[in-house]
Amino acid sequence: MKTIGYAAHSPDANMVPYHFERRALRANDIAIEILYSGICHSDLHTVNGDWGDQSYPLVPGHEIVGRVLEVGSDVTKYKVGENVAVGCMVDSCQDCDQCHNHEEQYCRNGMTPTYGSPDRISGEITQGGYSKHIVVREEFVLGVPDALDLAKAAPILCAGITTFSPLRTWDVKEGSRVGVIGLGGLGHMAVKLAVAMGAEVTVISRSNDKEEDAKAIGAKGILVSKDEDAMNAAAASFDFILDTVPVQHDVSVYTPLLDVDGTLTIVGQVGPMDGFMSWPLIGGRRRVAGSLIGGIKETQDVLDFCAEHNIHPDCKMIEAAEVNDAFAHLAKGDVAHRFVIDMTKLSVDG
Ligand code: NAP
Ligand code: ZN
Repeated sequence: MKTIGYAAHSPDANMVPYHFERRALRANDIAIEILYSGICHSDLHTVNGDWGDQSYPLVPGHEIVGRVLEVGSDVTKYKVGENVAVGCMVDSCQDCDQCHNHEEQYCRNGMTPTYGSPDRISGEITQGGYSKHIVVREEFVLGVPDALDLAKAAPILCAGITTFSPLRTWDVKEGSRVGVIGLGGLGHMAVKLAVAMGAEVTVISRSNDKEEDAKAIGAKGILVSKDEDAMNAAAASFDFILDTVPVQHDVSVYTPLLDVDGTLTIVGQVGPMDGFMSWPLIGGRRRVAGSLIGGIKETQDVLDFCAEHNIHPDCKMIEAAEVNDAFAHLAKGDVAHRFVIDMTKLSVDG
């Protein structure tokens, strides 16, 4: 199938229109017309080569919402015309304990990311959601509940699941005191989800600039990480902290904020962290942990949870030609929402 996307052709290069082919349907494949595609900071890391060498041209995008165009002969889960979604993975071995346990993101044989990774059968490099169409095996296609506004659902597929999964794992519930470091795409979803779980949520931000945004989505307020007095006053006052900072930093600035037995979970920076102080961990039986996206079953759970609690990501709709501007904002970290590309405006003949 002929399609069009926006691709980077080298690290740090602007993305430009790119014509390419999607594979012919295998028996268990679904062809999807992509309608909306979210822009994650991971797209920027990947295009820039922050996580190692990439294969170019590279079409990023793993927050995908669209409509079923065609189904393979063995597909039973979805029908032509249904609203569906695709997140950060498009395949895994389906055979190991982690896959059987619905944690395909931790597949022992390595899951296949939605873009920039060899397809398990053909070896062809996967290409993501900044495109008009995608072909994905049915096990990795999610259903979009009718109660969700299709134009606003895409960020649930990465920002939603990546924050929902640790909130669940570390048992955030009614009365939990939760801190969210960084009010961006992930951070704003973490606030909305934790508030819906009954938690008291504080945003821990570099400045007060996003205070109104934080309060508008249910946070109690902002704790400014650069304000030493405020940080000292907030010592030992959180049960759980989610760290979404996308760059190298020192978690020891934040660990003293945890109460005894509290956990800080890193979902942001991948790679070396700055100096790490053990005393806050030892002196309060505190923990530092990490978490990667979430399994397919849990991704369906977060879509259903958002539908049930009327949670929609705050989306700023853009056209595909504006992706490079959106990347520039993510690099600065100056937005408290998600950019979403309106793919309906991009034509294959364009
Ligand atoms: P984003 O929209 O750019 O938000 C990141 C936020 O972090 C910014 O809005 C900013 O918030 C804060 N920040 C930015 N630069 C900072 C700095 N130098 N020091 C301290 N704080 C800074 O990014 P995102 O899409 O939410 O992604 C966040 C990170 O999560 C990225 O590294 C991404 O790759 C990663 N990620 C991980 C997973 C996973 O499975 N673990 C999944 C998806 C994404 P304030 O202005 O409030 O400080
Ligand atoms: Zn992402």
